[in-house]
Amino acid sequence: MTSRIYRTASEAETIALGERLALQLPSRGVVLLIGNLGAGKTTLAKGIVHGLGAAPIEEVSSPTFTLIHEFGNGRVYHIDLYRLDELRELATLGLDEIFDRDAVVLIEWGERFPEILPAARTEIRIRAANGDEREIEVIRIPERTT
Ligand code: ADP
Ligand code: MG
Repeated sequence: MTSRIYRTASEAETIALGERLALQLPSRGVVLLIGNLGAGKTTLAKGIVHGLGAAPIEEVSSPTFTLIHEFGNGRVYHIDLYRLDELRELATLGLDEIFDRDAVVLIEWGERFPEILPAARTEIRIRAANGDEREIEVIRIPERTT
Protein backbone atom coordinates (compact mmCIF):
# COMPACT_ATOMS: atom_id res chain seq x y z
CA MET A 1 0.00 0.00 0.00
CA THR A 2 1.53 3.29 -1.06
CA SER A 3 0.46 6.66 0.27
CA ARG A 4 1.34 10.28 -0.46
CA ILE A 5 0.28 13.47 1.25
CA TYR A 6 -0.27 16.79 -0.53
CA ARG A 7 -1.27 20.18 0.87
CA THR A 8 -3.32 22.90 -0.79
CA ALA A 9 -4.25 26.40 0.40
CA SER A 10 -7.16 27.33 -1.87
CA GLU A 11 -9.95 25.92 -4.01
CA ALA A 12 -7.89 26.69 -7.15
CA GLU A 13 -4.90 24.78 -5.76
CA THR A 14 -7.07 21.74 -5.06
CA ILE A 15 -8.41 21.81 -8.63
CA ALA A 16 -4.83 22.06 -9.93
CA LEU A 17 -3.80 19.13 -7.71
CA GLY A 18 -6.70 17.08 -9.10
CA GLU A 19 -5.48 17.82 -12.62
CA ARG A 20 -2.02 16.52 -11.72
CA LEU A 21 -3.35 13.48 -9.85
CA ALA A 22 -5.43 12.55 -12.89
CA LEU A 23 -2.21 11.76 -14.73
CA GLN A 24 -1.00 9.43 -11.95
CA LEU A 25 -4.19 7.51 -11.23
CA PRO A 26 -4.69 4.00 -12.62
CA SER A 27 -6.38 4.32 -16.01
CA ARG A 28 -9.44 2.51 -14.67
CA GLY A 29 -10.93 1.70 -11.28
CA VAL A 30 -12.59 3.15 -8.22
CA VAL A 31 -11.30 6.31 -6.54
CA LEU A 32 -12.96 7.09 -3.22
CA LEU A 33 -13.07 10.76 -2.26
CA ILE A 34 -13.29 10.76 1.54
CA GLY A 35 -13.82 13.77 3.79
CA ASN A 36 -16.42 15.79 5.67
CA LEU A 37 -18.99 18.04 4.02
CA GLY A 38 -17.12 21.00 2.53
CA ALA A 39 -13.74 19.25 2.71
CA GLY A 40 -13.26 19.64 -1.05
CA LYS A 41 -14.24 16.27 -2.55
CA THR A 42 -16.26 17.78 -5.41
CA THR A 43 -13.60 20.44 -5.95
CA LEU A 44 -10.90 17.78 -6.34
CA ALA A 45 -13.21 15.82 -8.66
CA LYS A 46 -13.44 18.89 -10.93
CA GLY A 47 -9.67 18.84 -11.33
CA ILE A 48 -9.50 15.09 -11.87
CA VAL A 49 -12.27 15.03 -14.49
CA HIS A 50 -10.66 17.95 -16.30
CA GLY A 51 -7.18 16.46 -15.98
CA LEU A 52 -8.44 13.26 -17.57
CA GLY A 53 -9.64 15.35 -20.49
CA ALA A 54 -13.23 14.21 -19.96
CA ALA A 55 -14.95 17.60 -19.43
CA PRO A 56 -14.27 21.27 -18.72
CA ILE A 57 -14.13 22.21 -15.03
CA GLU A 58 -17.37 24.21 -15.15
CA GLU A 59 -19.29 21.12 -16.27
CA VAL A 60 -18.40 19.20 -13.13
CA SER A 61 -20.86 19.79 -10.30
CA SER A 62 -21.93 17.87 -7.23
CA PRO A 63 -23.93 14.75 -8.08
CA THR A 64 -25.74 15.01 -4.74
CA PHE A 65 -29.22 14.77 -6.27
CA THR A 66 -28.57 12.98 -9.55
CA LEU A 67 -26.17 10.54 -7.82
CA ILE A 68 -24.23 9.67 -10.98
CA HIS A 69 -22.61 11.97 -13.55
CA GLU A 70 -20.91 10.54 -16.63
CA PHE A 71 -18.16 12.30 -18.58
CA GLY A 72 -16.24 11.68 -21.78
CA ASN A 73 -18.52 8.98 -23.19
CA GLY A 74 -18.24 6.76 -20.14
CA ARG A 75 -14.51 7.22 -19.51
CA VAL A 76 -15.16 8.91 -16.17
CA TYR A 77 -17.97 8.66 -13.62
CA HIS A 78 -18.55 10.97 -10.64
CA ILE A 79 -20.86 9.47 -8.04
CA ASP A 80 -22.18 10.80 -4.70
CA LEU A 81 -23.79 8.32 -2.30
CA TYR A 82 -24.55 10.89 0.44
CA ARG A 83 -28.30 10.73 0.00
CA LEU A 84 -28.57 6.96 -0.08
CA ASP A 85 -29.72 5.43 3.19
CA GLU A 86 -29.75 1.74 2.49
CA LEU A 87 -27.87 -0.91 0.60
CA ARG A 88 -31.19 -1.82 -1.02
CA GLU A 89 -31.37 1.58 -2.78
CA LEU A 90 -27.85 1.06 -4.10
CA ALA A 91 -28.93 -2.00 -6.06
CA THR A 92 -30.98 0.22 -8.39
CA LEU A 93 -27.90 2.26 -9.40
CA GLY A 94 -26.11 -0.56 -11.24
CA LEU A 95 -22.74 0.27 -9.73
CA ASP A 96 -21.36 -3.24 -10.35
CA GLU A 97 -21.76 -2.69 -14.04
CA ILE A 98 -20.05 0.71 -13.84
CA PHE A 99 -17.16 -0.82 -11.83
CA ASP A 100 -16.64 -3.34 -14.66
CA ARG A 101 -16.21 -0.64 -17.27
CA ASP A 102 -12.93 0.75 -18.53
CA ALA A 103 -13.50 3.92 -16.57
CA VAL A 104 -12.21 6.00 -13.69
CA VAL A 105 -15.02 5.98 -11.10
CA LEU A 106 -14.84 8.83 -8.56
CA ILE A 107 -17.10 8.26 -5.54
CA GLU A 108 -18.01 10.65 -2.72
CA TRP A 109 -19.34 8.98 0.45
CA GLY A 110 -18.58 5.54 -0.99
CA GLU A 111 -16.96 4.49 2.30
CA ARG A 112 -20.50 4.34 3.76
CA PHE A 113 -21.01 1.14 1.77
CA PRO A 114 -17.72 -0.80 2.06
CA GLU A 115 -19.39 -4.08 1.09
CA ILE A 116 -19.99 -2.95 -2.48
CA LEU A 117 -16.49 -1.59 -3.14
CA PRO A 118 -13.78 -3.42 -5.06
CA ALA A 119 -10.80 -4.37 -2.88
CA ALA A 120 -8.37 -2.77 -5.30
CA ARG A 121 -8.99 0.95 -5.25
CA THR A 122 -7.53 4.37 -4.63
CA GLU A 123 -8.59 6.30 -1.54
CA ILE A 124 -8.16 10.07 -1.40
CA ARG A 125 -8.66 11.40 2.11
CA ILE A 126 -9.18 15.17 2.45
CA ARG A 127 -8.84 16.89 5.81
CA ALA A 128 -9.55 20.55 6.44
CA ALA A 129 -6.76 22.28 8.34
CA ASN A 130 -6.44 26.00 9.18
CA GLY A 131 -8.70 28.23 7.10
CA ASP A 132 -8.57 27.19 3.48
CA GLU A 133 -5.76 24.68 3.96
CA ARG A 134 -6.40 21.07 3.09
CA GLU A 135 -4.33 17.95 3.64
CA ILE A 136 -4.95 15.48 0.85
CA GLU A 137 -3.71 11.90 1.22
CA VAL A 138 -3.70 9.56 -1.76
CA ILE A 139 -3.61 5.87 -0.85
CA ARG A 140 -3.31 3.08 -3.40
CA ILE A 141 -4.81 -0.17 -2.12
CA PRO A 142 -3.94 -3.26 -4.18
CA GLU A 143 -6.11 -6.32 -4.67
CA ARG A 144 -6.03 -8.69 -1.68
CA THR A 145 -3.90 -11.68 -2.59
CA THR A 146 -4.79 -14.06 0.25
P1 ADP B 1 -17.36 18.44 -0.57
O1 ADP B 1 -17.65 17.86 -1.91
O2 ADP B 1 -16.25 17.71 0.16
O3 ADP B 1 -18.57 18.56 0.31
P2 ADP B 1 -16.86 20.90 -2.01
O4 ADP B 1 -15.70 20.62 -2.89
O5 ADP B 1 -18.21 20.90 -2.60
O6 ADP B 1 -16.78 19.91 -0.75
O7 ADP B 1 -16.65 22.29 -1.29
C1 ADP B 1 -15.43 22.71 -0.73
C2 ADP B 1 -15.61 24.12 -0.24
O8 ADP B 1 -14.46 24.54 0.47
C3 ADP B 1 -15.82 25.09 -1.38
O9 ADP B 1 -16.73 26.09 -0.97
C4 ADP B 1 -14.43 25.69 -1.57
O10 ADP B 1 -14.46 26.99 -2.09
C5 ADP B 1 -13.92 25.70 -0.16
N1 ADP B 1 -12.45 25.60 -0.05
C6 ADP B 1 -11.66 26.44 0.66
N2 ADP B 1 -10.38 26.07 0.60
C7 ADP B 1 -10.33 24.96 -0.18
C8 ADP B 1 -9.27 24.10 -0.58
N3 ADP B 1 -7.99 24.28 -0.20
N4 ADP B 1 -9.59 23.05 -1.36
C9 ADP B 1 -10.87 22.82 -1.73
N5 ADP B 1 -11.93 23.59 -1.36
C10 ADP B 1 -11.66 24.66 -0.59
MG1 MG C 1 -19.37 17.01 -2.75
